Amino acid sequence: MDYLITIWLEIHLKLNSNAKIFCKCKNEQDFSAKPNTHVCPVCTWQPGALPLLNQEVVTKAIHFSKALNSHLNKKSSFDRKNYFYPDLPMGFQITQFYHPIITEWKVSFFLNNYENQKTVTIHEAHLECDAAKMIHENGKSLVDFNRAWTPLLEIVTDPDFSSADEAVEFAKEIQRLAKWNDLWDADLEKWQMRVDVNISIRKNESDPLGTRVELKNINTFSAIKRAIEAESQRQWDLISKWESVAQETRRRADDENMSYMMRSKEDAVDYRYFPEPDMPVLELSEDDLKEFDTVEIDRPFDYISKCKEFWFNKEYINALLLDKSLFDFFFWIINEWFEPKTVAKWMVWPMKRALDFVQWDEITLLKSVSEEAKKQWVDAEKLFAERTTFLKSCWNLEWFLNKFQPLFKEFLQVEKEKKLVDNQLKIVFDVVLQSGKSINEVIKEKWFDAPAMDDNQLAGIVSEVLAANPAIVDQFKWWKESVIWFFVGQVMKKTQGKANPQAVNAELMKQLKG
Ligand SMILES: [Zn+2]
Repeated sequence: MDYLITIWLEIHLKLNSNAKIFCKCKNEQDFSAKPNTHVCPVCTWQPGALPLLNQEVVTKAIHFSKALNSHLNKKSSFDRKNYFYPDLPMGFQITQFYHPIITEWKVSFFLNNYENQKTVTIHEAHLECDAAKMIHENGKSLVDFNRAWTPLLEIVTDPDFSSADEAVEFAKEIQRLAKWNDLWDADLEKWQMRVDVNISIRKNESDPLGTRVELKNINTFSAIKRAIEAESQRQWDLISKWESVAQETRRRADDENMSYMMRSKEDAVDYRYFPEPDMPVLELSEDDLKEFDTVEIDRPFDYISKCKEFWFNKEYINALLLDKSLFDFFFWIINEWFEPKTVAKWMVWPMKRALDFVQWDEITLLKSVSEEAKKQWVDAEKLFAERTTFLKSCWNLEWFLNKFQPLFKEFLQVEKEKKLVDNQLKIVFDVVLQSGKSINEVIKEKWFDAPAMDDNQLAGIVSEVLAANPAIVDQFKWWKESVIWFFVGQVMKKTQGKANPQAVNAELMKQLKG
């Protein structure tokens, strides 16, 4: 690249307190209620209304501060940010401009390879209220005050990011911190978290920072990456043509991979900040400080660090990071004296396969097999449908963990004894999850506990079975290892359970691949 990118972020986190920040109205979690049903004279700003700070919101901010491992300002205060817009009946927003609750704190996070770390400075995090929601339909603009005065924590970073990946990983870390510590799910698509990105480019490290452009309206992590890449390129194209980059706020339209000017020279807008006369200084109480000292916090950074001690690969870490409950489960089970890598392998395998399988293009596959195979495919298709349903359901975390927990220990015990090969373990695992039968029952059913038999005899039976099922052999080439259990079953039936399952497997692989 011919230029250096500098990025800083403004992240708005919605907080899941029961009530709004300055009144007792319900802080609606999903914004599905009838418009203007969670309102009162205060949040619609009727004459004489006075804001009253909700302690629950303060406690959430304390938890976030602890999650960042940051110091907490014992005193902070609220200010008015004045501007006119129909979603703001007061004509101002209450925010913390001069004295935010969290200031100047360094936060470390892992980059997406989990090899490198990055440390950035959070310039500040402050509490503020959201505006009402505007709905534009049939040429009319409507205002829903259910969202007015719902609590926000805005996190502003220093210009410390030098790539889109760094910015995205940091935003993901903030999301996990919020989610894991019950601030909220921080779902971007549900607007529980909003990320505004500031971007400027320059040619050399020694040059001053270039003009900054702020991008709004970005609501997925991949869209943040695309927005940064497109905006830095746009700025570079201008500079390359000897044109100047205007300082402005732009609205990002991800579907067009474009951005449009919303307003220029944001800094020039005079918000006439002044201390909120109706709110006393926020001075944290003894109870607040005690809460800070005693609250238990889960930091994804610590969990990833632990994974690295176990030499986990990126795939394992990604899978476990999907939800904290997976980590809880993982740590619970390794306490029972199972080897961490083995545990992770068998936890991640069904999850990963669920994803791979669901993404698999069934139709292409059907079209590509021979006519002969298509006749036999009826069964395979039924099997495919069943497995797809099953694997999709694996993706339901609650289901996955509920089913997993009771049988997983038993399964790991079988794995530890090394009597079955991986393929057999996978088959057993599948059947157990689907049928709810015990592991030993399934092992018996599949003849995986059979004693050994002579090598030549076995090779003969394996080639007989393969010769009798040419279409399935064809499928094996497409399905890779997923139909091998069919052959294992056939061979086991023919040998009446006398074959050693590992030997059957090895012989099958040898003949199928050879
Ligand atoms: Zn209210």
